[in-house]
Amino acid sequence: RAKSAGKGRADLCDPELVRVSTERVQLEAALRRAIDDGELRAHYQPIFTVGEGLVTGYEALVRWERPDVGLVAPAGFIDVAEQSDLICEIDAWMLLRACADLATWGRESTSYVTVNISPRHLARARLVEDVVRALEAADLPASRLVLEVTESLGVDEARSADQLQALRTLGVHVAIDDFGTGYSSMSRLHELPADLLKIDRSFLDPERPGWIEALSLIIGSARAVGLRTVAEGVESPAQLALLRELGCDAAQGFHLAHPMPAQAVMELDLPDVRSSVGA
Ligand code: C2E
Ligand code: MG
Ligand code: MG
Ligand code: MG
Repeated sequence: RAKSAGKGRADLCDPELVRVSTERVQLEAALRRAIDDGELRAHYQPIFTVGEGLVTGYEALVRWERPDVGLVAPAGFIDVAEQSDLICEIDAWMLLRACADLATWGRESTSYVTVNISPRHLARARLVEDVVRALEAADLPASRLVLEVTESLGVDEARSADQLQALRTLGVHVAIDDFGTGYSSMSRLHELPADLLKIDRSFLDPERPGWIEALSLIIGSARAVGLRTVAEGVESPAQLALLRELGCDAAQGFHLAHPMPAQAVMELDLPDVRSSVGA
């Protein structure tokens, strides 16, 4: 469509382009208002140790409780937020919320909460400030917070790597999210400024040729360089059994627990947690 406008130029009169960009601008404005009006919600998905099946942590996942629409998943607004500074607002809000919630639950003192940090936020100097403020407000030790970053951007940019290192010096842990979907290669695992590796759920797909070998290689290599592994998207007992066999440390997925509001986490009847990120 926009091709007719010539190489590298968008046709500003293209009705479809105008419609899409108008929608995006409207969504961005609505989201900006939503953040101010307190419409963001934090849901938490428990992370279990594979060996004992105990809850070791919780991943914080944002939702937008949009009046007249209902609960909107990140897929409906994260992309738009990522294209502006709104994502930094969302991440900063979540840091405060998640640290406060974990502190309130009064769970085993080794359990942790993980917060997804966008590449944009990671490249900003304010991240360290946002993290410190959240920990202080909740009076939470730094070791109980895990930041989830994606491998490609978290590692390649010098600024991001420096920030991660500064945060780790404070005692905050770092997880590489969706591992295996970005650019890092197995041979560079030891260079990752991280404590945890979250293996993308595409590696648990039985349709994927050689998936067991790939999983086994990732888990073995991570272990060799002292990174703990968390498998994402565990949907069946068979997948969990395989992870146990391969020596994966932790797992999350619909088979174990769905993301839930903070109140539901508090009402979970959990045995004590004995494992932590660093254990
Ligand atoms: P993610 O960090 O990889 O989070 C895991 C996603 O997989 C979540 O989707 C979760 O609900 C879903 N999931 C968990 N178990 C299963 C399973 O067994 N099967 C399947 N098919 N999916 C499972 P959700 O909550 O829709 O979040 C999507 C993405 O949005 C997240 O992917 C993360 O990249 C981003 N996101 C969520 N919250 C935040 C946030 O506060 N800040 C930032 N920057 N990004 C966020
Ligand atoms: Mg994540
Ligand atoms: Mg993930
Ligand atoms: Mg993933």
